[in-house]
Amino acid sequence: MRCEQCGGKIRGKAYTSVTGRKLCDRCGIRLQGRTAGVVAGGGIAGGRATGGWYARVRRAMGRPPKS
Ligand SMILES: [Zn+2]
Repeated sequence: MRCEQCGGKIRGKAYTSVTGRKLCDRCGIRLQGRTAGVVAGGGIAGGRATGGWYARVRRAMGRPPKS
């Protein structure tokens, strides 16, 4: 099995990303850190409704969800 991020051989347990990609431990941990940052910034944490998150993104882009 190879890591889909760096292409290196995965030794031991593979890390499966939220998108289903198989990564080596190192890439997995790195990706997890980045995802955590996205979650903290985007407000996906806590299983928030996607609609709320989407509205916030649209607002951030300067387009109110309901005009
Ligand atoms: Zn890797």
